Amino acid sequence: MNHFAAIRDRLDACGVDAMLLTHAANRLYASGFRTPGTDGVAFVTRERAYYWTDARYIEAAAEQVADAAVELATPERGYAALLNGAIERHGVRTVGFEDEYMTVAELERYRSRIRAEFRPATALLTALRAVKDAEELEALVGAQRIAERALAEIYNDIRVGVTEKELAAKLTYLMLRYGAEDTSFDPIVASGANGSRPHAVPTDKPIAAGEFVTMDFGCVYRGYCSDMTRTVAVGHASEEMERVYRTVLDAQRAGIAAARAGVSGSAVHNAAAKVIADAGYGEYFTHAFGHGVGVEIHEAPRASASWSEPLPAGAVVSAEPGVYIPGRFGVRIEDVIVIKEGGCEDIHRAPKELLILP
Ligand code: ZN
Ligand code: ZN
Repeated sequence: MNHFAAIRDRLDACGVDAMLLTHAANRLYASGFRTPGTDGVAFVTRERAYYWTDARYIEAAAEQVADAAVELATPERGYAALLNGAIERHGVRTVGFEDEYMTVAELERYRSRIRAEFRPATALLTALRAVKDAEELEALVGAQRIAERALAEIYNDIRVGVTEKELAAKLTYLMLRYGAEDTSFDPIVASGANGSRPHAVPTDKPIAAGEFVTMDFGCVYRGYCSDMTRTVAVGHASEEMERVYRTVLDAQRAGIAAARAGVSGSAVHNAAAKVIADAGYGEYFTHAFGHGVGVEIHEAPRASASWSEPLPAGAVVSAEPGVYIPGRFGVRIEDVIVIKEGGCEDIHRAPKELLILP
């Protein structure tokens, strides 16, 4: 899977003759080639796309990058020389660069060596990446299925005495075991009072009876991320825990019901936030309802209070309201949805009713 042609089609609209891609996520989106390192440059002109990398990756790149000329960068003929060669060959006068990612020093370096005008053009990639095509959706669903398989199995390990770190390690193991290329972020496992911190780091704390355990995790499959959160109780749940759980689930359903193409991200966020506020927990919902998911775990568009732009059809966003009561407990439930005309599709299959493990 690559998106050289899609990027090429946007060059005119962005007022550039070519696009230079150095950021790992954008290079992956453009080329479909995932490297563990930071090396490599993709360059898309009107006539042709290029992928330049060094000796460590050239063999894999030549094998995996299609629809582009794959060329080796060497100390004698480095990226600047390759870039100037292509610029000359294709008569490129303006080059779009990733103003949201490139460092000031890198830009200075390019500007001093490259014979073309550099123009900020991150927006070209952001807009393209926000709308997923069929192949991308397939990868996203594949990543989700792997995470769900890990979830179904981790339930056997959640019991009184097991630690948060042990569960986090097992989730990582299970996702890799079932075909993930990587985790999409370090799994979050938070129990009891730790659960009131939305992005808690797993600790050596053992799980105790009567606690919630929140697990937020995901993996990478064919370059694309999954993201999911489930909160389960161990032993028993108090009436208040059940009430908060129900509130969060209702809020998630309200947000999902509001999500469709053309509706703003903030309208989706507000639909969920209202349910939580009406239940009296408004001050404990402290983050956005959702974020875009793709080659990066957090990308555009967002379903947050400040995202006033309409969500486009084909956008993939998380649906993850939560309630966090400091020093006591927290609940978050997270699915990922695909925005469509007139509604959305929840790509998750894992049950969401409150689960109380023995
Ligand atoms: Zn998550
Ligand atoms: Zn998320």
